[in-house]
Amino acid sequence: MNYGNYPFYINFDRIPVFNFCTTRHGGISLWPFESCNTGFNTLDSPEFVKQNRLIVAEKTGIPVECFVFLRQVHGDKILYIEKGHCGNALKVPVLEGDGMLTDQPGICLSITLADCIGIAIYDPENHVAGICHSGWRGCLLNICGKLVDKLVERCGCKVGNLIISLSPSICYKCYSISREIAENFFEKYGNFVLENKQKYYLDLKGIVISQLFEKGAVSANIVDAGICTAENTHIFYSHRAEKNTGRFVFGIYLT
Ligand SMILES: [Zn+2]
Repeated sequence: MNYGNYPFYINFDRIPVFNFCTTRHGGISLWPFESCNTGFNTLDSPEFVKQNRLIVAEKTGIPVECFVFLRQVHGDKILYIEKGHCGNALKVPVLEGDGMLTDQPGICLSITLADCIGIAIYDPENHVAGICHSGWRGCLLNICGKLVDKLVERCGCKVGNLIISLSPSICYKCYSISREIAENFFEKYGNFVLENKQKYYLDLKGIVISQLFEKGAVSANIVDAGICTAENTHIFYSHRAEKNTGRFVFGIYLT
C-alpha cells in the first residue's frame, strides 16, 4: 500500500498550546494496522504499538514520560491528571476513563481514536487543558459538556474563554447506526439523526458542537479539523470503514 507523502501529524495551530493529531503514517505496524497504530486495544502486536508510541514522542518532541493515556471504555468518567499519572505510554493503561483535565505543566493528555470525535480544550487565562472522546455513547452521556463543567468547577475556567479543537472523525454521511441506537437520540438530539431509505445516520460532530454551545462555548473559538476518517483511510484509521484497524493519537500538551 502506498500512502504517498502524508504528514506524521496535523497541528491545530490556532490552539495556543501544542495540540496535534497523528496520522497513520510513519510507524512500523504492518497491514491492516499500517503503519503508526498507537492503540493497545487492537489486534496489532503490543511491541509495535510501543515502538509507534516512542516514534510519536520523538516526532512531536514531547518526552515519552510526559504522556498519559487512558483505558477508554466509552463512559463519562473524567480524571484530573497530575504528574504522577504520566509515563504510562509504553504499557497497556490501567487508568480507566474517557476524559482528562490538568493545570499542571509537563503533561500531554492523549487519547486514541478511529472514528470517535476527539475534543481538546484549552483555557489561555488559567493555562488549563482538557480532552475527551465522544462516540455515540459519549454523545448520549454528554461527556464533552461534563468536561466543560469540570474545567469550570475544578479550575475556575470561564466557558467563553475556552478554545476548543475537534479531531478528524466519522461524518454523518458515513456513520450509519441501527434503529435501536437511533431511538436513543430522537427525543433530545432528533435534529442530528438523519433518515434516508430506512437507514439512520448520526451526526456526532453536530451533537458535540450543540453540547458545547449549551454550556456557553463561543463558535469563533471552535477549531474543526473538518476531515472524515471513514473517507480518508489513506490518512487516518476508521473503525467503521476498516473494522480491524489501528488508532491514531489526539493530544494536547501543557508546558
Ligand atoms: Zn464521511
